[in-house]
Order: sequence, then C-alpha cells, then structure tokens
Amino acid sequence: MTKRLPRRLVAGPLPSAHQNPMKPVYLDYNATTPLAPPALPAMLPYLRDHYGNPSSFHSRGARAKKGLEEAREVVAGHLRARPQEIVFTGGGSEAINLAIKGLLSTSQKPAHILSCVTEHKAVLETLNHLRKESQTLVTLLPVDAEGQIDLDQLRAEIRKETVLLAFMWANNETGVLHPIHKIGEIARGHKIPFFCDAVQAVGKIPIHLDTLPVDLMAFSAHKFYGPKGMGGLYVGRERFLPPLVHGGHQERGYRGGTENVAGAVGMAAALGWVKDQMGRNQASLKAMRDRLATEIRERISRVKIHAEKADRLVNTLNVSFLDLEGQSLLMAMDQEGICVSQGAACASGAIDPSPILLAMGLSPEEAKASVRISLGYMTRSQEIDFFLDVLPGIVKKIREG
Ligand code: PLP
Repeated sequence: MTKRLPRRLVAGPLPSAHQNPMKPVYLDYNATTPLAPPALPAMLPYLRDHYGNPSSFHSRGARAKKGLEEAREVVAGHLRARPQEIVFTGGGSEAINLAIKGLLSTSQKPAHILSCVTEHKAVLETLNHLRKESQTLVTLLPVDAEGQIDLDQLRAEIRKETVLLAFMWANNETGVLHPIHKIGEIARGHKIPFFCDAVQAVGKIPIHLDTLPVDLMAFSAHKFYGPKGMGGLYVGRERFLPPLVHGGHQERGYRGGTENVAGAVGMAAALGWVKDQMGRNQASLKAMRDRLATEIRERISRVKIHAEKADRLVNTLNVSFLDLEGQSLLMAMDQEGICVSQGAACASGAIDPSPILLAMGLSPEEAKASVRISLGYMTRSQEIDFFLDVLPGIVKKIREG
C-alpha cells in the first residue's frame, strides 16, 4: 500500500514507513477540543488588562462587566435565546447539577424523573444522588440496538408525580441524537419541565432555542473549541432555580462567585467560530468520518460499527474491533501518537465495558473491544490517512498476540 504523505513533508526528508509526522493525531474531539483561533486573542485582554471584578463599582469593574454581558449577548444570539436566559457556569456538569437539583428542590413530593440509561454520568450520578438523598423516583428508559428510545414507551412512563424529563441531545460515545423536538412536545403536552443535556450538541448541530420546546439546556465551552471549566445553562422563561453555589448574587442569583469573565468571552468567541465552521465544513467532516468507516471495514476484518443506522453526529464513529481489548488498542495507538478513546474509565483505572454499548445490546466482550473516534474542525485528511495506514497492523498484532 502506498503511503500518502502530507504535502508539507513531501519536499523534506521522507519519514520511515508508518512514522507519524503529525504527532499527535488527535481524534478525540468528543472528550475535548483545542481552542478556536479567535478564542485566545479574545480572552487575553480580560486576563491582562480588563481584570476588574464585574461587581465592582469603579471603571475597571464596569469594563469587565461590559465584557461579561457582551459575551452573554453573543452566546444567547448564537443559540437564539435571550441574554437573560443564559446563566454562566463552571462547565457542563455544573449546569446539569444546577438544572436537575434546582428544579427538583422546587417540585412537589414525591417526585419522579424520567430519563434514559445512556445519559452521561453527570446526569446519571445526579439522579442517583437524588434517589438516595430525597427518595426521588427515577425511571431510566432503555434504548434499542441503535441507541434510540421509544417515544411511546416514554409517554407510557409519565405519571402524575413526574416533575422532569431529562434527555441528552447527542450521546458522547456513539453520537446518537435523541428526537429533542418530539420529546419537548410530549413534555409540553403534559406540562412537565424538560431539561436537555446539549453538551455534545452545541457546536455540532444548529441550536434554535426560540423554536425548541426545552425549558433548561446545559452546554460546555470546551466541547466547542472554547476554554475548559466554562459552560452555561439556558433557563427558559426565567424559571427560578435555587443556586448550587451560595454567595454573592452573581448571575442574577443563580450562581454565587466572581464570574469567569475571560472564560465567558472565550466561550462566546468559540461559539461564533464553530458556527461558521459548521456552515462551511460540516460536509467535509462527515465525508472524513464516513471514509474512516468505509476503509476500516475494507482493511480490517471482524469490525462492528455502532449506531450506524441512527441519526448521529457527523463527527463520531464508535467501532468494535472484535476479539481484542480496546484498551490495548488505545495504548498501541497512543504509542503511534494517535489519541482516541473508549468508554468511561472507572475509579480503579480499569476500563469497564461501556454501559452505553451494553444498553444497546452488545456483549461485554464486544463493548470492551470498542473505540470511539471523534473528529473535529482541525482534523486534516492526512491524519485520517495515517490513522488508516497504521491501524490494520496494530489490530493484527494485538489479535495475534
Ligand atoms: N454531558 C455530556 C454529554 C458530556 O459529554 C460531558 C463531558 O464529557 C458532560 C456532560 C460534562 O461536561 P463538562 O466536562 O463540561 O463538565
């Protein structure tokens, strides 16, 4: 097989076969993303010059406050919400906790929450906590082999105690998209608040909150080329949620603590950038992902691609290389300078089979043989070439050995 070389290396010394000239080849964009080019320049003045506390009365405080509120307007604009509906948080998990715990604390008791087995741990662990602490009843809907829920089953599980529907938009491991509009309509029909974890959706699909029947929606900047530890919660119709963090009355009382102004400004810049990228480069992102799937199948035997028939994010490919341990594959890939990932790592450091893939009916062995490959707007086709060149050899070696 002839190795395709990146253009910039063709004139220079030729790398030996399978030498990675682009170290690292980063194919783990669902874990986190690099910063969007405009994000850092937008943030720097707020770290260096406009360092005032937005709550301070003087000019430096006012300058920081101006940056914060402009960022809120930009974020709201990109999501088609109103600025007063956006609460800045320290990331996606915090936004999720604020939404679910906040809503529950203002609900009737006994309370019942309807969610899904394939939700992110930030949701599932919050629900577990509520189950233990306040005897909240939780029903987790199952999924089919494609990772999809059954809307009739969802309707059937609604009870008079149901106070919240909590469903993610896009799954972090498989990319499967839940029918958020339809779920929202069911919620509205029953007058039940609807919370959506859109952490993997914002920056990957268009979000129009002005026409979306959701009440609360969490997002996280580092998943869309913004800074880490910065996120937000959309709170429709200014619903009251008691704060998780008590303190000053920042964020209109939803969250105490001096605001991360540079983070908010960076998030706003990143969101603008990624929206532009989506408009211009989403088709090529999908083409790269689809090429990966096709060539993996052509070059390697006994592979199983997950949720291929489902409505899915265009950047995500979850695939099991049967008869091997995905963890060995990840380690071998890492030695080649390729960053991909697998299901959640448990506290002991051992890799458990992904509960998401198990819920889709895979055997533990099949789930353990899985790898998540997630692409982004900085991914170059030469990286895909390199990945495809080295992968068959690595898989063969591990299977044989
Ligand atoms: N929800 C989903 C679907 C995610 O993928 C993640 C992060 O992996 C989170 C929530 C948590 O977001 P954060 O890392 O900003 O706390």
